[in-house]
Amino acid sequence: MSTVSARPVIGVLALQGDVREHLAVLRAEGAEPRPVRRPEELAEVDGLVVPGGESTTMAKLAGRFGLLEPLRDAVRAGLPAYGTCAGMILLADRLVDAPPGQPTVGGLDVTVRRNAFGRQVDSFESHVELAGVDGGPLHAVFIRAPWVEQAGPGVEVLGRVVGGPADGRIVAVRQGDVVATSFHPELTGDRRVHALFVDIVRRHLADAGRIDDAGRRGEP
Ligand code: GLN
Repeated sequence: MSTVSARPVIGVLALQGDVREHLAVLRAEGAEPRPVRRPEELAEVDGLVVPGGESTTMAKLAGRFGLLEPLRDAVRAGLPAYGTCAGMILLADRLVDAPPGQPTVGGLDVTVRRNAFGRQVDSFESHVELAGVDGGPLHAVFIRAPWVEQAGPGVEVLGRVVGGPADGRIVAVRQGDVVATSFHPELTGDRRVHALFVDIVRRHLADAGRIDDAGRRGEP
């Protein structure tokens, strides 16, 4: 098997939310992380993290910064993306319980319900077993989190809530090179989901012939 070891350039959408935490985890996982606020910066990344925060604010700012269409185009063109919490909402094709007309970037053929766990369970912690992530369940932190209400046929369900009133609800999905979790691995010190994403970005680059098996970058 080939080993692909390049340091991929991974952007973190830096309009609002927990940007710094993602940058730090990506760096620790061997990527070259960069904040992305402008279309020119988006054009330079090999993958993109859409952080947690407030999806309505983030969508509004993305519109104001002229980033919404470039983000849609980039994800449609195959840019690997990973959304946490509000980031999951932004990467969803369809929303429920969102203000009318709240725009999304899309890319995941899912319906996502905002603030799905209700007011009583605003924020909570749990353990979630993730497909494709070895080493036992992840400690998952949910903060006014969404869940995936419905997933299209091309969407792989990676993880569900176990136990409690939300038992069985989908909280982690993947479609091609787009991943989303309802929870925040960037806040727990467990880097396995970021490691999975960095690996997806490396493979994407290798498949596109942009890095060789030894991890060397080719001419652009
Ligand atoms: N409830 C927030 C929203 O709808 C998401 C919360 C989060 O990202 N921690 O945007």
